[in-house]
Amino acid sequence: MLIINTIEEVRNHLAKIREKGLSVGFVPTMGALHEGHLSLIREARKENDYVVCSIFINPIQFNKKSDLEKYPRNIETDINLLNDEKCDVLFYPSEVEMLPTTKAETFDFGGLDQFMEGKFRSGHFNGVATIVKKLFEIIEPQRAYFGMKDYQQLVIIHKITKDHNLPVEIIPCHTIREEDGLAMSSRNQLLSKSERKQAATIFKVLKMIKIHSGFSTINEIKEYVESQFRKSKTAKLEYFEIVDMYSLKPLKAWAESNNVIACTAVQVGNVRLIDNIILFS
Ligand code: AMP
Repeated sequence: MLIINTIEEVRNHLAKIREKGLSVGFVPTMGALHEGHLSLIREARKENDYVVCSIFINPIQFNKKSDLEKYPRNIETDINLLNDEKCDVLFYPSEVEMLPTTKAETFDFGGLDQFMEGKFRSGHFNGVATIVKKLFEIIEPQRAYFGMKDYQQLVIIHKITKDHNLPVEIIPCHTIREEDGLAMSSRNQLLSKSERKQAATIFKVLKMIKIHSGFSTINEIKEYVESQFRKSKTAKLEYFEIVDMYSLKPLKAWAESNNVIACTAVQVGNVRLIDNIILFS
């Protein structure tokens, strides 16, 4: 695997790859790779001739300095994992290379950022979109792979590629989970042993509400979820929303949409975790 640190070098290299008529699949990440990331690399490997992964901890998508500082970094292990997956190129730029000015662009997300992550993490999606758009313009992939775990991010990235006519197909990939159901996340390694145990509640509750969604009202479901987290000293519910899968608008009644997903953010100790479950589509 080639490791490339500069925009100029990766551009020149990929221009040669495209000249040969090879398709490029791209997986953007912030590193501290786990099976969730690797599943994206495997999908990209299946569908493309050439696979590029990027590792860049994007400072402008963090709204808390402490969250950025403690974000896990394991570059040596990441390189070994990507080599094992036969990734062709790791694009690993410095902060100065990617962000000569630290300002995020301002995007019009058509309201998709008003709810959930957008509401609780001010400026987050402008930070994400600034870097993802830049990466698409540098790498020019045919296809880019994103996890369903970050569902709102996936919908927002899909929108910016359409709005800015970026010639890339966004491929959604399933959430990979630990044995007890916890969605894999780089942040999981920051959990203590007891917090890690508590974190499994998130998916247990989501699975339970999927079963109940046919029989209970949305309000009843919300009350149930809130009551489950009130019991825990370590896991604090930040939000739980049942939303339309495309507009991301919170629903008050099931009849308002045929494509429904439940999304949540939970603070476990000092670690903020997100997850979701499709209720019907
Ligand atoms: P991150 O490094 O957390 O920014 O994630 C990079 C990409 O990996 C994003 O598209 C995430 O949605 C995806 N991803 C993270 N965790 C998982 C998971 N457990 N299963 C599938 N994809 C994931």
